[in-house]
Amino acid sequence: MKTKLKELKTRLTEINDLESAAALLDWDQNTYMPPGGAPARARQTATLERLAHEKFTDAGIGKLLDDLRPYEESAPYDSDEASLIRVTRRDYERAIKVPPAFVAEFSDHRSASFQAWAEARPANDFAKVRPYLEKTLDLSRRLANFFPGYEHIADPLIDYADYGMKASTVRATFAELREQLVPIVQAITAQPPADDACLRQTFPEAQQWAFGLEVVKRLGYDFERGRQDKAPHPFTTEFSIGDVRITTRVKENNLGEALFGTMHESGHGMYEQGVRTDLEGTPLAGGTSSGVHESQSRLWENVVGRSRGFWRFFYPRLQDIFPDQLEDVELETFYRAINKVERSLIRTDADEVTYNLHILLRFDFELRLLEGDLTVRDLPDAWRERFSADMGIIPPDDRDGVLQDIHWYAGGIGGAFQGYTLGNILSAQFFEQATQAHPEIESEIEAGKFSTLHNWLKESIYQHGRKYTPSELVERVTGGPLNIEPYIRYLCDKYGELYGL
Ligand code: ZN
Repeated sequence: MKTKLKELKTRLTEINDLESAAALLDWDQNTYMPPGGAPARARQTATLERLAHEKFTDAGIGKLLDDLRPYEESAPYDSDEASLIRVTRRDYERAIKVPPAFVAEFSDHRSASFQAWAEARPANDFAKVRPYLEKTLDLSRRLANFFPGYEHIADPLIDYADYGMKASTVRATFAELREQLVPIVQAITAQPPADDACLRQTFPEAQQWAFGLEVVKRLGYDFERGRQDKAPHPFTTEFSIGDVRITTRVKENNLGEALFGTMHESGHGMYEQGVRTDLEGTPLAGGTSSGVHESQSRLWENVVGRSRGFWRFFYPRLQDIFPDQLEDVELETFYRAINKVERSLIRTDADEVTYNLHILLRFDFELRLLEGDLTVRDLPDAWRERFSADMGIIPPDDRDGVLQDIHWYAGGIGGAFQGYTLGNILSAQFFEQATQAHPEIESEIEAGKFSTLHNWLKESIYQHGRKYTPSELVERVTGGPLNIEPYIRYLCDKYGELYGL
């Protein structure tokens, strides 16, 4: 058994090496690669992904997993060995259902679609990407249909990102959230908006960059095992537990962009850096789901990074760096500015209260597109209609409407968005749990100390990697299932005080 387990690990590490090489090519493509590299890069990435897929779906892996079943059953459920076999089997059974030719076709299409979108969005030309998006929808449906027996066609696609979740459960959670969220948004936006002019002065890039690094270093992002580079669409990627990279984008006329983006990505990064090194090179190394991953970026960006306590510590430092811009701006003015709530066009710029309305719209549209209830042709009109009903503003064009997100144009339709809102919900649920266990966390944040919180997260969440499913993890950490109440409490406390509700 030990020999077979060793052989499984050796094979899995080799596959992980190929996947990491593909991720590195992808990181390069999104940071430093000259535009001329695009066509060959798409092919190179596809080759590596195909090789990894072929090696992983090899019958030899299936045989090893079968042979190791008695070993798995005799070892404790949460041991590294049993978890490795269990999670690998889950991935394997999913992977063998999808033919390699289909994987390659989808991968090629994603690259082509991304290039078309990159030109179509600035040109506000939805017609240009429509055929690509139609093919994406077709490929997404075909992908789902490799997993027959689903309740909703989106289920297998949601399951990829948030294992164990279904359209019906997400829909029910989101309906409950919507019911509580809409009155909060209405009450806030009925008042005069906060003044955020202080964030919209000129802030030179070099100082913004340096301050962002200083902040995330203090939060606990490890630069010995990571680095930050510029990217037009910020993301986090990992090539090993010892090399987890973040990216950001800087706007000199908007202080919040790089600052909160950097904190956001550092949350993803700290999760990956916090996985136990024993799990290196295996399918257990990594975050357990997109929702849990997003809970970490949101926790650090919003729950911590937009709190008054956090800025009691960091604001004097920020004023030192930008005296001309901020010397005469009170902490309270700054705090209100970074928590301004308004109905806005762009999801990634949205505040934490209205943000979920952007996600709910996209999630519903994914379901309707997959169901065939909405066509790609009708999508821009449907977007405008629903957006103006939800937000009270009509997008002036497709560029800042249906073309704004990279997800459907560089990925698939289905399962792409629910993780963001699940992450918001979980960020508050986890933070509430952390502060109950360690009430000193709040005062430590005011003193610029984050180690108690960071260690609690590492201990409770990060170290386990993919060992537990998202629902097992939430149950272990909070003693119950995913629950919107802590998030609603968090919003009501914070914004109730800010807006005197
Ligand atoms: Zn994120």
